[in-house]
Amino acid sequence: MDLIFYSPLSGPVVPLEDVPDPVFAQRMAGDGLAVDPIDHRVLSPCSAKVIQVHRKRHAVTLATDEGVEILIHIGIETVSLDGEGFQVRVSDGQRVSQGDILIEFDADLIARKAKSLMTVILVANNQRFHPTNLFQGLAEAGRTPLFLVHIEDHPAGTVAPPVDHALPPVESEPIIVEAEHGIHARPAAALADTARRYQSIVEIVRPSGKAADAKSVVALLGLEIECGDSIRIVARGADAKEAVQALNSVARTAFGRTDEKPSVSPVEKIVTPIFGAPAVEEEPGVLRGVSASPGLAVGQVAKLVRPVVQVDEYGQDSELERQHLHEAVALVRRDIEVEGAQAGESQSEILLAHRIILDDPLLVTETEKWIGQGKSAGWAWQAAARSCEEQIRSLKSGLLAGRAADIEDVALRVLWRLTGVEPQLPDLTDQSILVAEDLPPSILISLDRNKLAGLATVRGGPTSHVAILARSMGMPAVAGLPASVLALSEQEEIVLNGDDGVLETKPTRARLEKISAVRNEREALRVENQKTAQEPAVTRDGTRIEIAANIGGAAEAHEAVKMGADGIGLLRTEFLFLDRAEPPTEEEHLAEYLAITAALGDRPLIIRTLDLGGDKLPSYFPQIHEDNPSLGIRGVRLAQERADLYRDQLRAILRIGSRGRYRIMLPLVSGVEEVLELRAVFASLAQELGVLALPEMGIMVETPAAAMLADRFGAVSDFFSIGSNDLTQYILAIDRGHPTLGRKLDSLHPAVLRAISVTVEGASYHGRWVGVCGAMASEPAAVPLLVGLGVSELSVSIPMVPEIKALVRSLDLANCRKLAEKAVGLDTAAQVRTLVKEAFPVANAIAETGH
Ligand code: PEP
Ligand code: MG
Repeated sequence: MDLIFYSPLSGPVVPLEDVPDPVFAQRMAGDGLAVDPIDHRVLSPCSAKVIQVHRKRHAVTLATDEGVEILIHIGIETVSLDGEGFQVRVSDGQRVSQGDILIEFDADLIARKAKSLMTVILVANNQRFHPTNLFQGLAEAGRTPLFLVHIEDHPAGTVAPPVDHALPPVESEPIIVEAEHGIHARPAAALADTARRYQSIVEIVRPSGKAADAKSVVALLGLEIECGDSIRIVARGADAKEAVQALNSVARTAFGRTDEKPSVSPVEKIVTPIFGAPAVEEEPGVLRGVSASPGLAVGQVAKLVRPVVQVDEYGQDSELERQHLHEAVALVRRDIEVEGAQAGESQSEILLAHRIILDDPLLVTETEKWIGQGKSAGWAWQAAARSCEEQIRSLKSGLLAGRAADIEDVALRVLWRLTGVEPQLPDLTDQSILVAEDLPPSILISLDRNKLAGLATVRGGPTSHVAILARSMGMPAVAGLPASVLALSEQEEIVLNGDDGVLETKPTRARLEKISAVRNEREALRVENQKTAQEPAVTRDGTRIEIAANIGGAAEAHEAVKMGADGIGLLRTEFLFLDRAEPPTEEEHLAEYLAITAALGDRPLIIRTLDLGGDKLPSYFPQIHEDNPSLGIRGVRLAQERADLYRDQLRAILRIGSRGRYRIMLPLVSGVEEVLELRAVFASLAQELGVLALPEMGIMVETPAAAMLADRFGAVSDFFSIGSNDLTQYILAIDRGHPTLGRKLDSLHPAVLRAISVTVEGASYHGRWVGVCGAMASEPAAVPLLVGLGVSELSVSIPMVPEIKALVRSLDLANCRKLAEKAVGLDTAAQVRTLVKEAFPVANAIAETGH
């Protein structure tokens, strides 16, 4: 029997050897043809099952019922487009007929940005199936037979050569893939091409145990190996050792590794190759990331391996599948509620987001659709979640990428419940430091906190979920570490320095003793600081700095008072009402504010108006497609789009009346007119309510525009509070949720310090005070600089109140000014940090111990 494969695209057909990519031209990825497309959609060349759509959306693999594996790779070097310009129309596991649309693409964009639009259509398992009758000329999509594949009735050559199972497997050390785009089609082809030269069975194995035949490009792509992932090469057979060595060499040559460790270790272990650039290990035993949560921990490595879930594609009866799904969702909802009951503010926010995702209408409808088509509940849920993730990721916002990670997390929880697979939680000792590529919040929350001493991750940065959770738990954390951290051995003793974003391996006894002394000193200090926490923070020369706290609700208001906060410098009101299908009513707003003012007594409260948008998107928020949500309808811009939401909130704030001391603060302001407009709305609402005395209205300085025009804003704003998280994001043009650039997102960057300096100067023209409520205010190294720049209020995370107060008491304003002056004249954030360390060793006791 001959299978016909029709051209997926219209355009001139090009022989493989003319494709401008040696991997394809030399048939390393398979045999077939290329088309130089004149249209913009890829049709399925045959009836088949979609094995995998590449996560960057530029390639798809299919398998026919006869076992022919087809790889369609759109354009050359298109993996680097990161999905831009591709719209996927199918999902993994889906059955497709010949002529169905698989992927649509923006031909102009790809032609401009990629090396070539030439699209290859290959039989990937061409050791077994051979394309024949290759077409020449101009193909018409869906109509021109591109090639044939002959299928034997009784396949002869498909049986793998016998392998002597008595031979021990040969295994490489863990390999950290550092090539930017992971193992995509071309690296996979290079690996497969090499592996096929050996008789042995060769597999690429993930730490979870999931393995793929290294001789199959399709199987390798199915492993979805990304940059930072850890893999091993395992071979079994007479030439296993040679095979593993050869794949090592592929890693070196095909993926640009230049530094080479000694070749083969004495027994059967093969050296660790690194795909791409070597891991940065500036000093031996020191891995540098970024500080995600301060503190110092000594503990044993516990690695997190995420379980792999297998689901059957087809279900039993649709009703039964629906019932299974509802039961699983209900169980996860209950789990989240149980966790929520014990959670702190930050964890609650994340759990809240998870609850919202569970009920997301798009996810639910999409799952229902698949179940209705005979799919199993697990398959349907997985496909729907992937498609939701895909849509969110296609918005290209790093902030939203965090949300996609939440969907992935929730999707897994439901799948675990559906399949009865338990997440393989790591074995924790009493002092474990969790090492993971990424840490889903649900797993972190489910671990025994008493046994966790710290968190070390490859992904994430200071504003990632891990960072937020770690800070709320008071646990040291370092994110953005080189992927080689994943190769540390289980139980290995390490030091995690959350202050400096450093992980130290193989600490010496002297080093451990030093650390232990520092920690004891810190604990004694913490106890000491707590004793004076209720007293004001006044510098040595008599300058009072108000130390307030950031909160998300009434429970935290009580906690803040207990910890000695002078007031609340930031109430994030949007967190009160994220978990809702309907916006909060005026009465609901008011009830919350009264609960908080009651907890505060006569301490001042700054109520920030709803700061929705970006990554905070409740279902009542206008669902508008934005290419760059962090540059879109966020913060005070909502007052225009959803005047009703702002109106209800402003009325409630006005109705607090004399039952509290409060100010109002507008987020993400970039124009003086925004403040004037809201002042007018506020005044007219006050008239409506018969309120005579209006509270002070200030702005957050989060945009470069607000900083630059502080002298102009001073005429219309009663005070300023620097939102350093967003200000850093916008000054440095680095998405605050970016998965890999987190390391560069440093608020101590001289450009950010200059923006603060300009703000303070502008504010002074009108005698306005400036505070800081972003994470920077809670960072001891930043405090002398902020004080020196003229900031008079710091609103910090609740646990940091006593320490920041004590630190302020140790400062001298004149010295801080000199320090700030020097800092704004430096080039880099690293130089600023060194400067502070040298000048204020007390604020950096950990760094003092130096490695
Ligand atoms: C900030 O941007 O620094 C800030 C305090 O606001 P949020 O973190 O809520 O965006
Ligand atoms: Mg902000």
